[in-house]
Amino acid sequence: MTDPAAPNDSSETTTDFIRDRIRADLAEGKVQQIQTRFPPEPNGYLHIGHAKAITLSFSVASEFGGKCNLRMDDTNPEKEAQEYVDAIKEDVRWLGFEWDDMVYASDYFGQLFAWAEQLIEKGLAYVDDQSAEQMAQGRGTAHSAGTNSPFRDRSAEENLDLFRRMKAGEFADGEKVLRAKIDMAHANLNLRDPAMYRVRNLHHQRTGDEWCIYPMYDWAHGQSDSIERVTHSLCTLEFEHHRPLYDWYCEQLGIHHPVQIEFARLNVEYMLTSKRKLLRLVEENHVDGWDDPRMPTIRGLRRRGVPPEALVAFCKHVGIAKVNGTHELSLLDFFTRDWLNTRTWRRMAVLDPIKLVIENWPAGEVVWKDVKNDPSDESAGTRKVPFTGVAWIDRADFMAEPPKKFFRLAPDREVRLRFGFAVTCTGYDKDADGNVTTVRCTYDPESANGKTSDGRKVKGVIHWVSAEHAVEADAHLFEPLFSEPDPASTDGDEFAQILRSDSRVIKKAMCEPSLLEANGGDAFQFERVGYFYCDPKTSEPGKPVFHRTVGLKDGWKKAQKKG
Ligand code: ATP
Ligand code: MG
Repeated sequence: MTDPAAPNDSSETTTDFIRDRIRADLAEGKVQQIQTRFPPEPNGYLHIGHAKAITLSFSVASEFGGKCNLRMDDTNPEKEAQEYVDAIKEDVRWLGFEWDDMVYASDYFGQLFAWAEQLIEKGLAYVDDQSAEQMAQGRGTAHSAGTNSPFRDRSAEENLDLFRRMKAGEFADGEKVLRAKIDMAHANLNLRDPAMYRVRNLHHQRTGDEWCIYPMYDWAHGQSDSIERVTHSLCTLEFEHHRPLYDWYCEQLGIHHPVQIEFARLNVEYMLTSKRKLLRLVEENHVDGWDDPRMPTIRGLRRRGVPPEALVAFCKHVGIAKVNGTHELSLLDFFTRDWLNTRTWRRMAVLDPIKLVIENWPAGEVVWKDVKNDPSDESAGTRKVPFTGVAWIDRADFMAEPPKKFFRLAPDREVRLRFGFAVTCTGYDKDADGNVTTVRCTYDPESANGKTSDGRKVKGVIHWVSAEHAVEADAHLFEPLFSEPDPASTDGDEFAQILRSDSRVIKKAMCEPSLLEANGGDAFQFERVGYFYCDPKTSEPGKPVFHRTVGLKDGWKKAQKKG
């Protein structure tokens, strides 16, 4: 099967400000071989926003015959863990990308330290004894200049000695900081003597107890890019104001100088794209972990049944912009449906069952039908579907007092049971609460294979499952986690208030017997109900659990508009 959205296709026609810049740099001979990287901090699971950054950096590299590294930005051991490193690798691969080098910022701790010493020797960095509060105060504001630290003019010799003693473990957390010596009155606050190293007496997941000082993001990031000979360092807009510092470090050190280019973060309605907030959802038990199918994490989307190709196609479609914006959830649904439509086998399952009794059906008779797995693909073969005198049909497919345009079942009206016979409703039964329990009907014995006994047309078609053969399975239906399209704007206690109570509804679905053989990871189109994914985590042999990935149409949005 060819895939126009395959992750590694070469989209020569794709044009945007990043690709234009790369083309120009290649044409002018500024670079020969494109090198990009994706640099996550292993302090949480990747989310849909990261999927966009991954798609961009990996696609750009492959389109221009270059390379892309996966780099763990592991400079903050407090919040990082191997668990996250492993998950990130798995998620990137699941998306369909393969890195050239797998690297860690912590691999460069030695080089970073040596470079810091160089800056100290050149009088461009100093050890500051001020407390965090004093430094924050001395920084000034956007409208007022900062003030120089009383320790700013230490000699290079003294700074070198103190810095080495910082590394040797002579100081407690917060006691000393290495700062770049730039300009305390600079219009850009990031250049007002930014911190390069702080003392953190912490065990690091990779370097163990070798280090008790750790580099700050701005110091580690650009230098890591430089070491890897990154040509174009693609990052999100919030780093735009850090670019002058990125450039300053490379220039002062006289090392390979990558070009940093910023693009807008991906935001999707009803989704949070902040690891910190997603962690809260997990820790406060609002969801069943990072891979809960309602989570916007890559593994959440995966367990929801969103195919990686659909996610990548979505990321490519939204493209890159210079201004932050928010995309509709229905756009992701569109790509998901578009991918699944031609690749899933059809099945029948009834999610809200009521009984249909065919009064003139020969007692005990079972007709086994050969039904195509995929009506548009002969090679997909068939499965056997049993038809009997008692079936489950969906509650929504019957109305006791229907409006005119209701083409499903109602008293004296006729519908076709998909792949089966045409039936005419003769009556129905209700329980004490007035809910319909059973619908009675007669069938036309000559109505198999789309015909009827007298050639009359039967307009409506409904799905069904033989009651005797039905397999009961849990079907999970999802709605967005939040009632607010912009949940990121809410925090604190209000966060809990905007969580929807109906974000997951579990139905006891009556499924056709072939679904007994569903394996974890299989995707199906349940006729008229949506696309479902057999959950590998909770399904057991003979006891599948299905997650609705997406409806056939944008049902919830319509319902919302009405409500
Ligand atoms: P968070 O705030 O959720 O922790 P982060 O930016 O700190 O996100 P990192 O692990 O540092 O997470 O991100 C790795 C890369 O992914 C960075 O280059 C970052 O710019 C990019 N990225 C993160 N979030 C998004 C997003 N919503 N859209 C596009 N790119 C993103
Ligand atoms: Mg970050």
